[in-house]
Amino acid sequence: MFTELAAPGVRRLQPYIPGKPIAELQREYGVSGIIKLASNENPLGPAPCALEAARAALPELARYPDGAGFELKQALSRKHGVTPEQITLGNGSNDILELLTRAFVTPEHEVIFSEHSFAVYPIVTQAVGATARVAPARDFGHDLDAMRGLIGDRTRVIFIANPNNPTGTWLDRESLEAFVRAVPRHALVVIDEAYYEYAIDSETRYPDTLPWVARYANLVTTRTFSKAYGLAGLRVGYGVSHPEVADLLNRVRQPFNVNSLAQAAALAALEDREHLARSVALNRAGMAQLTQAFTRLRLSFIPSLANFISVDVERPAQPVYEGLLREGVIVRPVANYGMPRHLRVTIGTHEENARFLGALEKVLEE
Ligand SMILES: *Cc1c(COP(=O)(O)O)cnc(C)c1O
Repeated sequence: MFTELAAPGVRRLQPYIPGKPIAELQREYGVSGIIKLASNENPLGPAPCALEAARAALPELARYPDGAGFELKQALSRKHGVTPEQITLGNGSNDILELLTRAFVTPEHEVIFSEHSFAVYPIVTQAVGATARVAPARDFGHDLDAMRGLIGDRTRVIFIANPNNPTGTWLDRESLEAFVRAVPRHALVVIDEAYYEYAIDSETRYPDTLPWVARYANLVTTRTFSKAYGLAGLRVGYGVSHPEVADLLNRVRQPFNVNSLAQAAALAALEDREHLARSVALNRAGMAQLTQAFTRLRLSFIPSLANFISVDVERPAQPVYEGLLREGVIVRPVANYGMPRHLRVTIGTHEENARFLGALEKVLEE
């Protein structure tokens, strides 16, 4: 009855499917000692100083947060060599993605993104009634030529995840900058760098796009505290853009979109380089542990620069996913991303990875 009343874009929306919560699996299967490698969370948790900062902010919870995010923007501005006016804070970086379509995209417009890319892009596109133009992927990664071919007068936003979720694939400095340079000024290029901290110092030509924002006025880079900083539960991310773009995003955001605990914890987390370095090192070791095991098991996988990896189980992945649940291991099926034979596994601690591998071997033999 109410479906007919909904906005046309919303009527056709498929809701985002999150990783299964540990408590839900416990209730449904009655198993204990569950490990969750399904939502790309940091297995080390947040930096101790971030927890301490959140705790110290608790007595002020009756007050509204700083709607301007003054201190966090100052710190980010110093860290990245941009002005505070270029920064938009979000309730997670997903918030920024949504603000972008709300501020810039109407039903006459088109939004371009890649096949096998982040599920939030089609959601924020359809929610404003715009048309999604999906470029076919190449080897599971972004095909920039195909994406370029879709650009037209109606294009308003182009989303690129680098590295991409759920594939972990990445674009190198030269090809990405050549793409950005070729995009006409009426379209915003949004480079979603949720996994930047894991990717940046790898022996690849993975780019830091923040310095490009000064060169390309239509470029927006987004980052988050949810992944390498281990603060997914607090919801804080940000976009860096031309100040005029930031000003427009600021007009549509909720005035207190980033809560006070999140602002305090994020500010502190930025200072703890050691925790970040430890998180990245643990991820590299875990990535090697998983890829070596996949090779031994003769399973092919998509090389990844992120904190997860998608492995081809060479059969429909759903029953394997369910078998792993029975073993108390939650991973992520990605059939809804057009990858019905892959499972996406978040890199955990050495012990968690070993448990996952043992369970996988057992389930594949059943
Ligand atoms: C996890 C993720 C995000 C970040 O989401 P938050 O809202 O910041 O928690 C953004 N983009 C991609 C591609 C992701 O995988």
